[in-house]
Amino acid sequence: MSLDKCERLYRFRNPARIERQADSIGDPIARLKYLRQATAAAEPVRRRWGPFGSFCMVAILLSMRSDAQFRHPSNVRQTDRPLAAESLRVAPQEIPNVWRIAETKDFEVYSNGLRVEDELAVANEPRLYRLLSVGAGRNDGRLTDDKGRSSVLLRSQPAGIVFHTTESDQAPFEAAEQHNLQRIGRETLLYVRSKRAYHFVIDRFGRVHRIVVESDAANHAGNSVWADSRWLYLELNQSFLGVSFEASMQTDQPPINEAQTHAARVLTEMLRCKYHIAAENCVTHAQVSVNPDNMRIGWHCDWGKGFPFAEIGLPENYELPVPSLYLLGFESDPAYIHATGPGLWKGLAVAEERLREAAGARRMGVAAYRTLLQKRYRDEIAALKDKSVDEENRQ
Ligand SMILES: [Zn+2]
Repeated sequence: MSLDKCERLYRFRNPARIERQADSIGDPIARLKYLRQATAAAEPVRRRWGPFGSFCMVAILLSMRSDAQFRHPSNVRQTDRPLAAESLRVAPQEIPNVWRIAETKDFEVYSNGLRVEDELAVANEPRLYRLLSVGAGRNDGRLTDDKGRSSVLLRSQPAGIVFHTTESDQAPFEAAEQHNLQRIGRETLLYVRSKRAYHFVIDRFGRVHRIVVESDAANHAGNSVWADSRWLYLELNQSFLGVSFEASMQTDQPPINEAQTHAARVLTEMLRCKYHIAAENCVTHAQVSVNPDNMRIGWHCDWGKGFPFAEIGLPENYELPVPSLYLLGFESDPAYIHATGPGLWKGLAVAEERLREAAGARRMGVAAYRTLLQKRYRDEIAALKDKSVDEENRQ
């Protein structure tokens, strides 16, 4: 959903005063510092939601328009070796042991109770993405063979999960609305399927529907950035699985119910086990979305607050420093602050501190260092789209 339509959803003891004060602080670092202090003692009201803006279906279309159409070289090296153990930087819950116990043409059942409906499963472009090192210049994801020829290091295994909301119509969740609930749910699934928008949708009854098959990319994240301690991921359609809840954050009601929360937990357990996904790589769309036109974070802001990380068996990942900010020089702005919650603000503040420390270590001003990082982003995106890199690797 678009930033200008997003509104503050989190509540503090005195939210209006905090926001007014934050708005009056021009320097983004000082503003984030203030927000961090002001919200440290605040007690957020979980699952309270104010009016939200435009529809994520629009967001899906925007994402599709802006996705990099990255095609991979034919003779490059792939590595599907699990990266989880080497990339953990927060203490995650242990990856559970989950296995498939039954499979038919219409559904799968797993040992943790997960059932995946396969009736709507559809193919898309096969997943393959370039590995980029977090530290530019240290290992930029290229390998050199014994004859000095270099090749790009690619992976086809998903590295993480991005959580979304469909922002589709929402009938009251009650028995009298059964017909409407079923109809809207079906229409949403078919629309999502036609757009190849997500890998999984969790409907309002907690049923998990496979949409795009896991081996393929889905059009869920568009312009986006995330990183773990080793690898930098750009344009996450290729590298991350998209899991969306049939939900809207535009109402005063909790966006998801207990059945959906449980379904997300068992689905996340299965995917983390199957692909050795690090907990730190299970994040929300609002944490990864960027706008390259103005170099601001958070073009889309679904799950900018209130995502139930703990109930889904994950650490409080809102507190992770936002990689687009400290690795690639993106900036936040008041609209993004308003559209997100204090959990995410902590991640922003930590990222700003990292940026400032890195600039200091290089004896550079923050603005100059940010410009340097932004150049890296543009260079990396250009490389993703540059087909001559493919040709280079075919030689
Ligand atoms: Zn989204």
